[in-house]
Amino acid sequence: MSRVSVSKSGIRSDARNVSLERHTQRFLELRRGLEQIEYFCKGTVLKRMMKCGKAQCACATDASKRHGPYFELTYKANGKTVNVKLSREAAPLYRAAAQQYRRLKTLLSRLDKLSKTILRHQAKLAESKRQK
Ligand SMILES: [Zn+2]
Repeated sequence: MSRVSVSKSGIRSDARNVSLERHTQRFLELRRGLEQIEYFCKGTVLKRMMKCGKAQCACATDASKRHGPYFELTYKANGKTVNVKLSREAAPLYRAAAQQYRRLKTLLSRLDKLSKTILRHQAKLAESKRQK
């Protein structure tokens, strides 16, 4: 992002410029957060206890005797739910990655909101120069 020329005209820093500068600082701050994102992955890690399907097995009648835990990653792709089986070793890796993904999405939506605010300010500044 190009440094807005606002900071140079700080002498006549009217309220609009001050808040634009504040938004710009916040934007840069949030953008640094992007660098701290670790490997990420869309979805949720589920832990499941399963019935094996054998009528004689204890799991058929007793929920506490179900087998597992089994782990899976679930996410939506093209409107369909996708389930991927995970080993018990893989589960915590994917759980952490899913958390990073949520963090990334939060960051992105904040950056998006802030960008729109800044763009509005920049447009007003550009428009105000036209009249001079
Ligand atoms: Zn069973």
